[in-house]
Amino acid sequence: MQVPLLDLKAQYATIKSDVLKQINEVLDSQVCIGGPKVAELEQKIAQYSDCKFAVGVSSGTDAILGCLMSLGIGNGDEVITTPFTFFATAGCIARVCAKPVFVDIDPKTYNITPALIEKAITKKTKAIMPVHLYGQMADMDAIMAIAKKHNLAVIEDAAQSIGSIYKGKKAGSIGNFGCFSFFPSKNLGGIGDGGMVVCNDEKLAVKMKLMRDHGQNPTYYYNFVGGNFRLDPIQAAALLVKLPHLEQWSAGRRKNAEYYNKKFAGSKVGVPFISPDCITIYNQYVIRVANRDALAKSLKEKGVGCAIYYPLPLHIQECFAYLGYKQGDFPQSEKAAKEVLALPIYPELTDEMQDYVVQSVLEVTK
Ligand SMILES: *Cc1c(COP(=O)(O)O)cnc(C)c1O
Repeated sequence: MQVPLLDLKAQYATIKSDVLKQINEVLDSQVCIGGPKVAELEQKIAQYSDCKFAVGVSSGTDAILGCLMSLGIGNGDEVITTPFTFFATAGCIARVCAKPVFVDIDPKTYNITPALIEKAITKKTKAIMPVHLYGQMADMDAIMAIAKKHNLAVIEDAAQSIGSIYKGKKAGSIGNFGCFSFFPSKNLGGIGDGGMVVCNDEKLAVKMKLMRDHGQNPTYYYNFVGGNFRLDPIQAAALLVKLPHLEQWSAGRRKNAEYYNKKFAGSKVGVPFISPDCITIYNQYVIRVANRDALAKSLKEKGVGCAIYYPLPLHIQECFAYLGYKQGDFPQSEKAAKEVLALPIYPELTDEMQDYVVQSVLEVTK
């Protein structure tokens, strides 16, 4: 049996005619930049995320970059984040010429450890960027308390966590900014690149809106240097079809996760820990095993898709050598990088497929 890590064709089959109809409307209108589809998606994502404002952008990466630029973070500034995340989180900090300052993760949730943040704060610290990894939100009450005490901005990297909930609050709605990605493998995936910034501060929302369009206001008059971070209306059209299904798709992932949890109970497979404060959206279902590389190899041979998110923490990536970190600086991140493995969790998985995944995993780990 073949069980891919993700099967987007299975999802597309259920919405194909609606997507084609929406895209045709864009093509017939020939409004090829911005326009009503982007505005409608922004309004609906703002509502879905319990935020006042949403600004469509070209990717999750550009969402993060635009937020840093809108907050005026740049040369000489420091931003605290986790080394156990997708590259863009820290890459964007470096791209605005600020310094990424890493803080280790909690080994249970894989999210930044709030108790370690204060030690990393200096006079140059301007912001904290927690990442809601794999679909579960970071401990935002603790993070916001530190931010308030030290007068720091908070940018939530919620690229993997749209619709996720922490103590009744939606991902992206707690910090100064929240960033979503519509990369096709995210729970709400476009048919190409796309992203969204959400916030509750009108001034920041206006700045972000200008930032995605070179900072021009009015046209051809530039108050500050922005970029072309605009969301494509074809993406907005496809996402408008998918958004109404998102809750149900994320619930399907949670159901699949419960099934795995039950089947892995009592084995050597470490299943995801979900805090009682959180409702996760399981962008990834990540297990933890001592013999991870052997397991990954065996699963691939058996036709079971799996992936390592992420194999090398950011503090020891070559491009960040100039920051001066070394192996051993963040032991929890380094250990997780050696033991984590994501299994297929997409909502269209059948019981037979899940049973095959479970059997294939237990053969190696028992
Ligand atoms: C996907 C992702 C991003 C970047 O999103 P893109 O749309 O691919 O640019 C940023 N941060 C995290 C944690 C992500 O998972």
